[in-house]
Amino acid sequence: MNVVVLGATGSIGRQTADVVAAHPDRLRVRGLVAHRDVDGMAALVERLAPAWVVLTDRDAAARLQVRVPAGTVVDAGMDRVIARIQDEPPATVVAAMSGFVGLGPTLAAAERGHRLGLANKETMVAAGGLIREAVRRGGGRLLPMDSEHSAIFQALGEPARPFRRLIITATGGPFRGWDRARLAHVEAAAALNHPVWRMGRKNTIDSATLMNKGLEVLEAHWLFDAPLDQIDVVVHPEAVVHSLVEYPDGAMLAQLGMPDMRVPIQLALTWPERWEVPQAPRLTLAAVGRLTFEEPDHDVFPGVALARRAGTVGGSAPVVLNAANEVAVERFLAGALRFLDISDLVADVLAAHTAAPVERLDDILAADADARAAARAWSPGGGEGRRRHG
Ligand code: NDP
Ligand code: MG
Repeated sequence: MNVVVLGATGSIGRQTADVVAAHPDRLRVRGLVAHRDVDGMAALVERLAPAWVVLTDRDAAARLQVRVPAGTVVDAGMDRVIARIQDEPPATVVAAMSGFVGLGPTLAAAERGHRLGLANKETMVAAGGLIREAVRRGGGRLLPMDSEHSAIFQALGEPARPFRRLIITATGGPFRGWDRARLAHVEAAAALNHPVWRMGRKNTIDSATLMNKGLEVLEAHWLFDAPLDQIDVVVHPEAVVHSLVEYPDGAMLAQLGMPDMRVPIQLALTWPERWEVPQAPRLTLAAVGRLTFEEPDHDVFPGVALARRAGTVGGSAPVVLNAANEVAVERFLAGALRFLDISDLVADVLAAHTAAPVERLDDILAADADARAAARAWSPGGGEGRRRHG
C-alpha cells in the first residue's frame, strides 16, 4: 500500500515512518510533506526513498534539493502539495500537519478519494462538516489516528452501533491537581513536559490547558456524528484506557493498551486488518496494577467548557475557538503570554465573536483570519469572557 505523509518531520510523521519501515513488504512511502525542517526531511528521504517530497517553505526546499538523490523529486509550496495529492494514484494520506494549515491538503486528499488517516484534529474542529462531505464525494474513507478516537472507532465496531455516550479519556496533563494560583507562573518548559506523551509543542501545550480534550470533543462530534451532550471527558492519568463507548444497556466497551501512537497510526493504515507493531511495548495488566479515573477540574482548566460552548453555538464559533487557541499557544511559547492567559484569550475572542453559518471553505478561511487578528491584538487585562466559562 502506498502512503503519503503530511507533516512527515513531526512527532506523528516520524512515528508513521517507523510503522512503514517495520513493514517494508507491505507499506511504501510515496510522498512526504513538511514545512521547513531540511535536516529532518533529508533523513526521512534517505530512510524511505519516497518518489516525491514537498517543503512548503521555498528556501528550505531549495536547500533540500541539493541533498537528496535523483530518484526523489523535490517541490516547494502549498499549491504543489495539493497538486501532488490530486495527481497521486490511490494511497493512504496521513494528515499530520500541526494546526489549521493542514486543511487544504486534507480536503484535497478527501476529494480525491484517498484513504485519510487523520491525526490533524484542528482541521476537523474547524471544518468537520466540509471534510466529511469531501470524503463522501471522493468515495474514500476517513480513519482516526488520534488515540482516543481510534479507541472509540474500535469500540463502536463497523457499522457503528447506536451508542449512548462516548467517553474520552485524558491524562490530565502535567498540571493535574493544580490550582490557578499555582498555574499563574508556570513557564513554557514545565508546560512542555507532558507526563505520558511525547508530542509536538502545540499539542503538548493543549494537553496542559486541557484544550486538547476540548478539541477532541469537537473532533469526536464530527467523526462519530455524536451530539455534544453525549460526549464526556474523564481524567485517567495511567493513559491505558484510550477511550470508551457506553451502549444503551449500560455496557461499556473500551480499548486498552500501552500509550504508543504507533498503534493507532498503524491501525488507520491497515484497518480492518491488525498487524504486529513490533516496536510498541505490550500492556501487562498486573504490572500496571491500578487504573484510576476522576472528573476534570473545569474551573482551573476551562478548555473543554470553552470548546463545548463553541460547538453548541456552531457555525464559525469552533473555527474561532481553534484559531484563537493556535495564536494563544504561539504567543505563550514565544514568552508573550502567561499560561492562564491562553484560556482567557480564547474565552474573550470567542465571546466577542458573532457566529455565522459556515457553508463554504471561504467562510471558514475568513472566520479563521478574523479570529487570528483578534487573538494577536488581545492583551491581558480587559475582556468579557474572562472566567465566565460556564
Ligand atoms: P509536530 O509539531 O511534531 O509536527 C508538525 C508537522 O507539520 C511537521 O512535520 C511540520 O513541518 C509540519 N508543518 C507545520 N506547518 C506546516 C506548513 N505550513 N506546511 C507544511 N507542513 C507543516 O506535530 P505533531 O506530530 O505532534 O502533531 C501533528 C497533528 O497531529 C496535530 O494536529 C496534533 O494535534 C495531532 N496529534 C498528535 C499526536 C501526537 O502524539 N503527537 C496525538 C494525536 C493527534 P516542519 O517540521 O518542517 O516544521
Ligand atoms: Mg488525543
